[in-house]
Amino acid sequence: MQSPGASSFITQYIKEVGYDANLTTILDCIQMASELSKGRPMIQLKVTALMPAELLITLSKMYTYGGISIEQVAEAMYTPSLLYEVEGLPEAEIRQWCRGLERLREAGEFAQRKGVYILVDAEYTHMNPGISLAALAMMLNFNKDIPLIWNTYQCYLKEAYNAITADYATIMDKGLCFGAKIVRGAYINCEEEYAKRQGVPNPVCDSYKDTSSSYNRVVETMLHNISHCGEKCNIIVASHNEESVRKAIQGMEKLGIARDSGLVYFGQLLGMCDQVSYPLGQAGYQIYKSLPYGTVEETLPYLSRRAQENKSVLMGARKERSLLQRELRRRFLRF
Ligand SMILES: Cc1cc2nc3c(=O)[nH]c(=O)nc-3n(C[C@H](O)[C@H](O)[C@H](O)COP(=O)(O)OP(=O)(O)OC[C@H]3O[C@@H](n4cnc5c(N)ncnc54)[C@H](O)[C@@H]3O)c2cc1C
Repeated sequence: MQSPGASSFITQYIKEVGYDANLTTILDCIQMASELSKGRPMIQLKVTALMPAELLITLSKMYTYGGISIEQVAEAMYTPSLLYEVEGLPEAEIRQWCRGLERLREAGEFAQRKGVYILVDAEYTHMNPGISLAALAMMLNFNKDIPLIWNTYQCYLKEAYNAITADYATIMDKGLCFGAKIVRGAYINCEEEYAKRQGVPNPVCDSYKDTSSSYNRVVETMLHNISHCGEKCNIIVASHNEESVRKAIQGMEKLGIARDSGLVYFGQLLGMCDQVSYPLGQAGYQIYKSLPYGTVEETLPYLSRRAQENKSVLMGARKERSLLQRELRRRFLRF
């Protein structure tokens, strides 16, 4: 019979094997992106695919209360033994963290060799500070000449503006490059429930209108930053919302940011809102289409969740259908 300690050791071992397998998939994606992409190759990376979410929750608390810095984590990616000096973590978690950082370093080094940009995804607020800690530490190691590593900012969060402006200042003060994926945010229902359970205020904006104002304000501010620092800062306006895309384009024009400069990308899911992506691409803007990679069983639930959460996609699908109907009428019935 196994002792409870032995069974949790085995469970953790199985999880670690899973994280190693995920790293192999990420390296495959980097390789494929470098071979297939005509423009700038980019991939998205979920930190929870490479280390335990529970660990990221613990790290989030430590980072928020000043128990660990991005400099320490950046150094520990190359010298993991430094993590044993960090107070407040049991040895088992330090081992998981060392391995997680090693995986991030491997992904970063391979991406650097292949010239593939990594967009680190944002997830739930109770683990996001830990994810940002990892993303910013990667920026310290890999963003010396170009913004190879980008962090994601969810504008449905009341704190989004403060978070992105603080991270931007931290990275620029070190003379490094900064990359940001700007999204509205995908975990709205879970955030509300989690806040209720914890008895804390909901971190999400009070209405869709507030989220949109927050989104447009963050994009506008980052466009101003780009107009000052040029190639050292890149952003991706990752949204299906036509009004936000239009506002970003107007901002670029006003500030003289060239469409094809590569300083600003527009991102949509592949197969969703193509009526937004294709005209943008034809007009010379830089487009990124996000493609989930995996088996049909793995990717279909992901895509159906994305379609449900996404007002603009549903409205876009209706618009796309009416555009197709109009085109068919024009071709076959000539009216
Ligand atoms: C390339 C790409 C990468 C992405 N990466 C991430 C990521 O790393 N992390 C992540 O969380 N999401 C990510 N997303 C998803 C994104 O956050 C949005 O969920 C999705 O794009 C829908 O927002 P929208 O701006 O496209 O469209 P819209 O349909 O205009 O906006 C819908 C969004 O508005 C917000 N919203 C809706 N109702 C309310 C309300 N009552 N109060 C407040 N806010 C509300 C929600 O965020 C909802 O998802 C990504 C999307 C793309 C295209």
